[in-house]
Amino acid sequence: MDIRKLVKKQVSALRAYDAKRVPCKIKLDANESPYGFADAAGNMAGIRTNRYPDPEARHLRHLLAKDLGVNPEGLLFGNGSDELIYYLITTFGGPVSYPVPTFSMYGIISHTLCEKKIEVPLDKDFDLDVDGFLKALRKEKPKLIFLSSPNNPTGNCFSTDRILKIIEASRGIVIVDEAYQPFSSEKGMLPLLKDYRNLVIMRTLSKIGLAALRLGFMLADPEIIREVNKVRLPFNVNSFSQAVAVAALKKKKEFRASIKAIVTERERLFEEMMKIESVTTFPSEANFILFRVEDPDYVYASLLKKGILVRNIKNVVPGCLRVTVGTPKENTAFLKALNEITRS
Ligand code: PMP
Repeated sequence: MDIRKLVKKQVSALRAYDAKRVPCKIKLDANESPYGFADAAGNMAGIRTNRYPDPEARHLRHLLAKDLGVNPEGLLFGNGSDELIYYLITTFGGPVSYPVPTFSMYGIISHTLCEKKIEVPLDKDFDLDVDGFLKALRKEKPKLIFLSSPNNPTGNCFSTDRILKIIEASRGIVIVDEAYQPFSSEKGMLPLLKDYRNLVIMRTLSKIGLAALRLGFMLADPEIIREVNKVRLPFNVNSFSQAVAVAALKKKKEFRASIKAIVTERERLFEEMMKIESVTTFPSEANFILFRVEDPDYVYASLLKKGILVRNIKNVVPGCLRVTVGTPKENTAFLKALNEITRS
């Protein structure tokens, strides 16, 4: 039997998401935090392993809603925000629009779900091309627009007035993906959430030290949440993740300190990378830095030879690599290696 012939055409054309584990000493490729919350994972004894998790994640929902000053009815959890992207596209369908370059899952999931993709290139400063979006809105009437701000992989925030112009002109839903907002000097869209019914904000715990939990969440008008909740799989967030998140979210001081340490190191990395003549370094509001080199394959391979793993994104942004901010020691090792490789 030819299994490939049974598979849907759309799926057959896909390649599985390549999250391969490359052996390395210093892992700076996946925008994780170098700081974890191991002690929050310690107290699992009370979990009844024979029971399904709380489908509504009530304890976690109320805790987080209080922290963020939002209505718990306006909050929905996903097994990572990846899952929420899936749910949003499943609920509303396409066309799905987003700027490029940006986070790859908007396009991959749209493709998987057979929805039309409308890609609008960013301008030369990596900001939103409002006219391009307005044209796309008139012509294609996208149901969903995904805006990652700060944007992965460019690192910048989009200007708020441009985001607002798109929200105001859109008859569909605009999702501002704030996965990297904790590292940004800007406030983000949360204070504006109540002003725009078609605005959804997406966040995740993955970048702030809890990637192992797979916990993302979206904030929106309760009517949107109720609709998306219809396609949510019943027990999508497991009991262990809920419990660890509840324990970790109480450690506000530790969160603040780890985020501050990452931002301080990001600034040091940026300044030091700027000193290397053959490297073009782009400013970042996130926990990673985009940089352009003359030969990205050579720099990637040479860093890896020294045990340092970064992300080669030359196919997404020509000539570019992306490095995640690590601990001070890791960053120093990266800077030393990058200097040696690009100056030789
Ligand atoms: N949005 C953006 C912009 C991201 O970069 C990522 C992670 N690479 C995600 C969402 C997905 O995060 P999660 O781990 O919550 O699925």
